[in-house]
Amino acid sequence: MKVRRIVVTGGAGFLGSHLCDRLVAQGHDVICVDNFFTSQKVNIAHLLGKPNFELIRHDITHPLWLEVDEIYNLACPAAPGHYQYNPIKTMKTSVLGAINLLGMARRCRAKILQASTSEVYGDPEIHPQPESYRGNVNPIGPRACYDEGKRAAETLFFDYQRMNKTNIRVARIFNTYGPRMHPFDGRVVSNFIRQALSGQDISIFGDGSQTRSFCYVDDLVEGLMALMNGPDDFSGPVNLGNPTEMTIQHLAETVVQMVGSKSKLISRPLPADDPTQRKPDITLAKAKLGWEPKVRLEDGLRQTIEYFRRIDLDHFRAPTPNY
Ligand code: NAD
Ligand code: UDP
Repeated sequence: MKVRRIVVTGGAGFLGSHLCDRLVAQGHDVICVDNFFTSQKVNIAHLLGKPNFELIRHDITHPLWLEVDEIYNLACPAAPGHYQYNPIKTMKTSVLGAINLLGMARRCRAKILQASTSEVYGDPEIHPQPESYRGNVNPIGPRACYDEGKRAAETLFFDYQRMNKTNIRVARIFNTYGPRMHPFDGRVVSNFIRQALSGQDISIFGDGSQTRSFCYVDDLVEGLMALMNGPDDFSGPVNLGNPTEMTIQHLAETVVQMVGSKSKLISRPLPADDPTQRKPDITLAKAKLGWEPKVRLEDGLRQTIEYFRRIDLDHFRAPTPNY
């Protein structure tokens, strides 16, 4: 194997830290860039002593000068409560961050992968969602800072490809869960597990009939690496996610039963623009990358519940009050 110099922005976050683990284990020189908005050093503390791992505290809305072969751009708050806390900053992270990193990729002739999202489909009218679907996003709603920021970043990636022949990859990531989710990120899996373990009520937003499809982190990271290492004539965008769809009510019941909790399921107001259904069509990922998820929900949840049992919540700082 040829050792490559690889930057992972957002590398201290949930997905980024697992990706850093894999790349460091493969022997690459890994540079993790993070401003620690929605993460803490604990996620990558075990990598700090390694000779092929480096950490830079940096905000990607500002330029960065590094010499690299590959860039994975994962830096962006991903949970609705946190990305809505400072929506203007969220938009800057997606757009200015993409411009800064695409500039680096162009200068270094590096390959660059963007962590895009199923949110580019908004509240989808087509089900399941193929990459050809152009989406149903409310451009002025509370989720727009994230959805439109990610859409603009995709535009920038394809413009850099057309103008500069930059070697790009775009992954549209669907809901992913697993160990190292921030316990106060406010996302559904972390919320339900934290609530179930502490015997608190389980907060179902709306009537719980909305659907999501949950992918285990190991599968997702495998997909990101398959895309980065895949053929140069395949840039995506490509959906990465697990097509097993379920209602939020079903997820709540599964978590409560697996934890063995006495928590009650209660209904809370449904946030504005909350998508009613979401399920990836992964035909393209299967055909072009030979990738599909392998981990069953129960197995992934078991690992995640074990992680939440192990951690001490007092050691975690809530990124914003919105969780
Ligand atoms: P996360 O919040 O755990 O990780 C994001 C990381 O980016 C954090 O470490 C945060 O501190 C860092 N960050 C935020 N703004 C930054 C900035 N301006 N400069 C430098 N670092 C910054 O979230 P995650 O779930 O690991 O998501 C990683 C990426 O994948 C995000 O871009 C997200 O939009 C995308 N994504 C995730 C999911 C999912 O279900 N986990 C789904 C779709 C897309
Ligand atoms: N949700 C919920 N209770 C919670 C957190 C989220 O019922 O405590 C719902 C939320 O309304 C949405 C789904 O779970 O319908 C997934 O929410 P999450 O924030 O994890 O991700 P996203 O909405 O971005 O898919």
